[in-house]
Amino acid sequence: MVFEFDNVVMSGANGTKRLSVANLRLPAGGMTVIVGPSGAGKSTLLRLCNRLEVPVEGIVRFHGRSLTDIGVLQLRRAVGMVFQEPVRFAGTVFDNLREADPDLDVAAAAILLQRVGLDPSFVDRTADELSGGEAQRMCIARALVTDPEALLMDEPTSSLDPSATRTIENQALALTAAGMPILWVTHDTAQMNRIASHVVCLINGRVAYEGTAAGLMASDEPGIAAYLAEQPS
Ligand code: ADP
Repeated sequence: MVFEFDNVVMSGANGTKRLSVANLRLPAGGMTVIVGPSGAGKSTLLRLCNRLEVPVEGIVRFHGRSLTDIGVLQLRRAVGMVFQEPVRFAGTVFDNLREADPDLDVAAAAILLQRVGLDPSFVDRTADELSGGEAQRMCIARALVTDPEALLMDEPTSSLDPSATRTIENQALALTAAGMPILWVTHDTAQMNRIASHVVCLINGRVAYEGTAAGLMASDEPGIAAYLAEQPS
């Protein structure tokens, strides 16, 4: 298991619960897609995995160790994160990659770019001049600099066009095929159907379903059915 949640509770405004996960075990390989409607707690679940958020109650474990027993810096090197909007720092792509490791050399940077399908010549490109899809791939490469054991991706394609979206999906699938477990958050079940090897569906802060994408699509649980009915066909 890459991540385990035991009786994890996060509270929201006025003491309401925004996430309550009694028992969740996420597999140490493949593409685990966390789906559900807006506000269901998907992002919160992901952010708990690298301590961008800390549970009010309960335990989150990474490869069996409680996150409270792992230094935050060590954890964030072991668990890379990619956000909805590609975060670019000033300068070249090389400068951006070196934000994650000032000692990174050009040869290592070129290898990282190839892992996300970018030509090594991109090291000298100005980060601000990249397309959205190229910038997001640079961000994935930057998340790989510390040689992480898992990647968290929070709606990584929601600001991209369909073609760039497919490219990112395929690059992420290539990473999982090479052994990197990925947790990918999306509200889009069409995307889930393209990429998921395992699915967790959150509804109102609770795990409403865990299993295959096909099993979710066939669910007649009322909360899930209402969510599926909202999806564009
Ligand atoms: P999703 O990613 O599924 O859209 P989120 O995890 O972002 O859902 O949010 C789940 C719920 O928690 C929402 O009701 C949201 O308003 C609330 N929430 C998000 N962030 C915070 C926060 N920092 N403090 C309190 N409540 C929050």
